[in-house]
Amino acid sequence: MSSADLRTLFLRFFRERGHQIVPSSSLVPGNDPTLLFTNAGMVQFKDVFLGQDQRHYSRAASAQRCVRAGGKHNDLENVGYTARHHTFFEMLGNFSFGDYFKRDAIRFAWDFVTGSQWLGIDPRRLMVTVYHTDEEAYAVWHQEIGLPAERIVRIGDKPDGGSDNFWQMGETGPCGPCSEIFYDHGADIPGGPPGSPEEDGDRWIEIWNLVFMQFDRSAQGELTPLPQPSVDTGMGLERTAAVMQGVHSNYEIDLFVNLIQAAAQATNSDALDSSSLRVIADHIRACAFLIADGVYPSNEGRGYVLRRIIRRAVRHGYKLGQTQPFFYSLVGALEREMGAAYPELAAQRAHIERVLRQEEERFAETLSQGMGLLEEAIAALQGKEIPGETVFRLYDTYGFPVDLTADIARERGLGIDEAGFEAAMQAQRERGRAASRFGVDLRAGVVLQEQTRFGGYDDLAGTGTVLTLLRG
Ligand code: ATP
Ligand code: MG
Ligand code: MG
Ligand code: MG
Repeated sequence: MSSADLRTLFLRFFRERGHQIVPSSSLVPGNDPTLLFTNAGMVQFKDVFLGQDQRHYSRAASAQRCVRAGGKHNDLENVGYTARHHTFFEMLGNFSFGDYFKRDAIRFAWDFVTGSQWLGIDPRRLMVTVYHTDEEAYAVWHQEIGLPAERIVRIGDKPDGGSDNFWQMGETGPCGPCSEIFYDHGADIPGGPPGSPEEDGDRWIEIWNLVFMQFDRSAQGELTPLPQPSVDTGMGLERTAAVMQGVHSNYEIDLFVNLIQAAAQATNSDALDSSSLRVIADHIRACAFLIADGVYPSNEGRGYVLRRIIRRAVRHGYKLGQTQPFFYSLVGALEREMGAAYPELAAQRAHIERVLRQEEERFAETLSQGMGLLEEAIAALQGKEIPGETVFRLYDTYGFPVDLTADIARERGLGIDEAGFEAAMQAQRERGRAASRFGVDLRAGVVLQEQTRFGGYDDLAGTGTVLTLLRG
């Protein structure tokens, strides 16, 4: 089953069950300054869940393009390291707006996943999770579906108060307990079942998350019951395609095999299993779709996230020995893979290529010099951390976003001196202030630069500061 067939089948299953098929919304959320990018299928329905918007239907289904490369859900640092994370992916989802609740949501999901005329996945390879206090969901899985107790895992809160089984879109907004469906890729792959200390491996992979929306979380953290309990689900298209195609990694599915092939050609590389090619194949999707949705590389906010992703991809090309612009040339391959489902790719192809090429050329001016500086610093290194002064110089003079330097460091088993970087930045800020006291505009735009530098830096730690910056 191709990924395109899977998308079609999913939508057909839910159409036949009374769901309105709704097109994917933009990656740039409309009227929602609290969110960096659309990161789930429910984003376009947020106001419906909150009772602030009404639709003529109470059941919907979609294939939503998503980006998780910044803000609350940030998977950028996972790409190249796990079999299951992308910056850009498609989320298949079904939604109930005060219509059905836990019972039907679980039944639909189970029928689609295991039904012989649908996905027909062997139930013995599946495990599910429920939120530890959600007796209702547990009872549906156990008594109605008949899943044995050892295949249902109760997940509680983490020490920091969060939980994988209590979903929330952002710091505020709709939220509620989850039930997740995991697929076991087999004992030869490292990783433990959900809820175990080793669950972060790639053996049991989460394919579908069912969210039972019961609450609205306020900025003060209070939970108010939603007017009508609702359902929001998200199934990863690429992860499920991997199961259906009998491969373990998302990067081995039809779509990615072709993109990786194209990336290999564009970089004159034959190391088809290199993580650099996987990263490039991942990043072309995020970048092309972000540009198609109107984002432009820049030094702040969404544009800076885009710039960071492009530069990471270009650096991976450089690592493979490609020093000429190549990234832009992958848009054609992407259009072949996804153009039928997303006509905007074809419509905007020339624009996307132009924007990417410009950014590549711009970064090419400083990339090799910056890499030279970094290599020297690494060669001279005493400990395990790239000095903050170097990280800062790479940032300031050579256009290396901090996360890019950290990514290179990580490949060599090194870290970066974050405190030293902060200090160097602080020093620059003070120089800027001193200069402006004398009325000399030596550092025009320094405030803007600081913001984006902080954004890149903090985002690295996954604290979602980019969001705060966008708000502020
Ligand atoms: P994980 O725990 O594996 O990081 P998640 O719990 O963060 O996944 P959800 O927020 O529940 O993911 O999203 C719903 C579904 O979307 C997931 O079950 C998964 O199939 C898919 N998904 C989530 N993040 C990614 C990603 N970065 N790349 C590809 N698919 C993803
Ligand atoms: Mg995740
Ligand atoms: Mg999860
Ligand atoms: Mg989940």
